[in-house]
Amino acid sequence: MNPARSTAVGPSQSQGPNAALIADVARLIVDVPDFPKPGIVFKDLTPVLADPRAFAGVIDWFADLALNDPAGGISAVVGIESRGFLLGAPLGLRLGVPLLPVRKAGKLPRAVLTESYELEYGSATLALHADALPTGGPVLIVDDVLATGGTAAAAAALVSRAGGTVTGVAVLLELAALGGRRRLAPCHVHALLAT
Ligand code: AMP
Repeated sequence: MNPARSTAVGPSQSQGPNAALIADVARLIVDVPDFPKPGIVFKDLTPVLADPRAFAGVIDWFADLALNDPAGGISAVVGIESRGFLLGAPLGLRLGVPLLPVRKAGKLPRAVLTESYELEYGSATLALHADALPTGGPVLIVDDVLATGGTAAAAAALVSRAGGTVTGVAVLLELAALGGRRRLAPCHVHALLAT
């Protein structure tokens, strides 16, 4: 991973060029208490996907990040299953670079690299096709929500093992209190919204 330059566009910076987009996305996200289990407030982003103007603005924001990447442009987008696919696919198309899916164990059909990480209860395993990055290069990891950072850290480890360089992790929403950004340091973390 690269040296840190963390950027969070949260409510405190809401007067900037993205203020209208941030306000739109914040209004559209629905908090669902006790889903998928008691005590979790699930951030439902499907209303953002259902609003073409907001969705396009979100993809523009991700694309600006990638185009202004300190590495001088990225060579691939990694989308994390499953909501990371919904953001990563239009972004990869917009940038004209490959979309590489990081999937849950057992879903990718060819030889894979795997990384396991701890959840609150138990563990999870993510996989990336072993030949996904034949020429390496700078990679942007995309997901919807950054919480503890375990998922993104596992994806970053997979990219590194496959020969890529993680230039950043970009999310729509960062749950800042859960410390994912610290866990990913020194990787650059970009969040459109932070709570
Ligand atoms: P973490 O590994 O703790 O950073 O969790 C991030 C992953 O879990 C992402 O793929 C998110 O889609 C999902 N996630 C975690 N917490 C939430 C939440 N409160 N609402 C929606 N998705 C979440």
